[in-house]
Amino acid sequence: MKNVIVILVDAFRPDHLSMFGYQKETDKHLKVLAKDNILFRNHFSTSNATAPSLASLFTGKYPNHHGVLHQLPYNQDEEFTNFEKAQAEFWLPSFLRDKGYETIGVDWLGMWFQKGFTHYDEIMPGETPKNPNAPFTSTKEMTDLAIHRIKNSTKPFFLFMHLWDTHFPYPHIEYTGESKDVQATLDSIKDEKQREYMRRRIENKGLYTFSQMIEKYDLAIETVNNHIKRLQEFLMESGKWDDTIFLFLGDHATSIGEHGIYFSHSGLFDISLRVPFIMKIPGINSKDISQYTQHTDILPTILDYLGLDTGLKFDGKSMRPLFENGTPIREEMFFFDGLCKDIRAVRTKNKKLIFANDNFCHLCKGGHHAQIEEYDLEKDPDETTNVYQGESELQPLMDTIK
Ligand SMILES: [Zn+2]
Repeated sequence: MKNVIVILVDAFRPDHLSMFGYQKETDKHLKVLAKDNILFRNHFSTSNATAPSLASLFTGKYPNHHGVLHQLPYNQDEEFTNFEKAQAEFWLPSFLRDKGYETIGVDWLGMWFQKGFTHYDEIMPGETPKNPNAPFTSTKEMTDLAIHRIKNSTKPFFLFMHLWDTHFPYPHIEYTGESKDVQATLDSIKDEKQREYMRRRIENKGLYTFSQMIEKYDLAIETVNNHIKRLQEFLMESGKWDDTIFLFLGDHATSIGEHGIYFSHSGLFDISLRVPFIMKIPGINSKDISQYTQHTDILPTILDYLGLDTGLKFDGKSMRPLFENGTPIREEMFFFDGLCKDIRAVRTKNKKLIFANDNFCHLCKGGHHAQIEEYDLEKDPDETTNVYQGESELQPLMDTIK
């Protein structure tokens, strides 16, 4: 049996990697990994928030089908009742454990997400976090723990590692830059609610200017790059790399100012949904894929290449046709806003329709979408001009998820 590794990087944008055209080389190792394996250029999450996105990865379903529509703690009680039902039907960690895998979770979300893991923690047994003020441990500590668990495993293993260093305000990244008047930065934010939200997040945190925050984000990506290199070298030296299915991707992305959203990821704009994704499957040659894929497609792909049939129907599809002859596996994608009350979207190659039943943002208490928005992605890939005029050819697709 092949080992499976899923490494999820929080709030991860493709355009801050040189392999996607960034001017800084934050991804020295990752770009080699991508070149030797499968790089996805148009991979999208199912949500702009961690909990719904992660639930899609391990159930193969969209948030309206697996139940977790929102990020913790913004959920309704029924979301968890529905999620428990979905998990009882299929949950990747439980499924692999029952097939004889050692299931290793390195994360701190816990709760429903630790189900099915033999081990689920974020720090080496007997140790305490180096930076106790941060809400999560560093990529270094998480990688140490992952290597420790794999060394001690006598079975095929499934490793799920969720790296948080890339999440604002980057508490483990050592970089302060020049201290400047934080008020000038806040004054540049037009929307009052977004400005007050940002004030709560940056005041007295050693963060002053946007360029300094971007510098920290880039250093966080570089840190992740370095520890992925270390993990891969360990797997190669211990003879486990060749027989491992390896996935490295973002849970969702983030806005760093686009659409008036600063270092946060509310709303269903592409900037918070499109994520980097690199995959290695033993026996599949290197590929550079620009067709559309989504988080729901990952589980069916893993099961396909493990040769495990569940007899169940998932929302996503195996990517095998894409790898074998370049056949697209999907024409449309669906998105669910996990940070605002009730916003859903459907996207094709050229168009996106967004419907906000309730656009209240739990984070900034403002709103980021009109009730109905439509974007012509061919002419306006940055989604700046709402072209909705009373009807949309995407309406029938939207009706399927309302
Ligand atoms: Zn907001």
